[in-house]
Amino acid sequence: MLSPRTTAVTALLESHDLDAMAFFNCFNLRYLCGFTGTDGVLVVKAGESMFLTDSRYVTQARAQVGRIPVGEYQTKLEGVTDNLVDAGAIRVGFEADHLSFAQVEQLRKLAGSDLDWIPVGKPVQKLRVRKTPEEVNLLADAAELAAQAFRSIMTGIAPGRTEAEIALDLEFALRRVGGEEKAFDIIVASGERGSLPHGVASQKQLAEGELITVDYGLRYKGYHSDETVTLALGNISSNMRRIFDIVLDAHDLAIEKIRPGMKLTELDACARDYIAGKGYGDYFGHGLGHGVGLEVHEYPAVSPRAEDTVEEGMVLTIEPGIYIPDEGGVRIEDMVYVTADGCRILTQLPKSFCNLLQ
Ligand code: ZN
Ligand code: ZN
Repeated sequence: MLSPRTTAVTALLESHDLDAMAFFNCFNLRYLCGFTGTDGVLVVKAGESMFLTDSRYVTQARAQVGRIPVGEYQTKLEGVTDNLVDAGAIRVGFEADHLSFAQVEQLRKLAGSDLDWIPVGKPVQKLRVRKTPEEVNLLADAAELAAQAFRSIMTGIAPGRTEAEIALDLEFALRRVGGEEKAFDIIVASGERGSLPHGVASQKQLAEGELITVDYGLRYKGYHSDETVTLALGNISSNMRRIFDIVLDAHDLAIEKIRPGMKLTELDACARDYIAGKGYGDYFGHGLGHGVGLEVHEYPAVSPRAEDTVEEGMVLTIEPGIYIPDEGGVRIEDMVYVTADGCRILTQLPKSFCNLLQ
């Protein structure tokens, strides 16, 4: 019995002329059959699926994968190979961006000439790209909880406290509001450290007159939030204020312009060209955003090198930044859900200029 999601896989089998597709990536397993464990393989053949796992996960898998039959293997690659050979499959697809070179070599060696392992790249990444209404609700819930957590620790963001202390406060708060886990190591970058796009919280103390950038998120029922705020601690330099306003305008512009059908590169360019026009093009080195879902960074990347288009149902981050070495930086990030004629912002914290000491 096939779910609608495995129906999409069936279409993939047809388009790649495959007898079967073997999924190893645990996020794809969760998406396609509901299994939340970290080790197993879903084999989809025309008209039927089979879930294979080891003894640790058999009971859990039976409870989670609905009517898909569950088989047990002793060792994974042998188990999958035997299952496919017994089923008479020949051309078998695998997730090209997930299995290691060594694993693929091993699979090929085990099967000999019985199976032809075919790497499948982008079509697999794209399986999860259009979020269902239930997924959007979970992503919105994750963002709502993250905002609650942030608000609960805001009064603690004060001169004299360290970045690490702020990150720890936030990490506790993310769990307290119901998050399963932080989505990634929380970035707290203040003052000059704001020029580090990935400035994971350090022992540096916050000081009056600095900007502080906090990039954080949580996981809720498997889905992630991702949001960045940049806040002022007292009066900041006029240059930093100018940069803040440029980043905020670039962020607002991209959110205003986003539409299904536009190229991802065009979306990236909305913010990038604006920042470059203000003279800061050399100080915005990363892509404008990325997909978010079961993984905090997933397909597609919104960057000058992206190849595809914005689609209705995508959930993307919009996160322009300007980073001036030895001086400081600003990043502002929201998660948006692409609708038929624009987008809905899922993240909740206000992004307008905020001086915490006022
Ligand atoms: Zn982020
Ligand atoms: Zn992000």
